[in-house]
Amino acid sequence: MITFLILLTVLALSMVLLARALGRMDRNVAPPVPVEEPSAPEQTGLGDPEWNIVIRHQCEPINCPNLKGNPRQPGKEPGCQVCAALFLERYGERLLNEQREGRNR
Ligand SMILES: [Zn+2]
Repeated sequence: MITFLILLTVLALSMVLLARALGRMDRNVAPPVPVEEPSAPEQTGLGDPEWNIVIRHQCEPINCPNLKGNPRQPGKEPGCQVCAALFLERYGERLLNEQREGRNR
């Protein structure tokens, strides 16, 4: 008899959980969840000051072809993403080296 009661309780609990899971699924489907703001001005998360640094330290020294011409590039961003990636990579390496040197000291 006790076994039956436990079984019943487990069954009822699982039904409640199932219903809740289904309800959550319905709720997730109904309103379209805004993942990103459509009016976000830049895709890389870099602002104009950061782009100026990227252009000065990466685009200009390597005479980047994306910086030339008018308009510079079709995108909304003032610099090019290739240079931004290169710059951030170098910046990250420098940070890592500094950390490594700091640890060895
Ligand atoms: Zn560039």
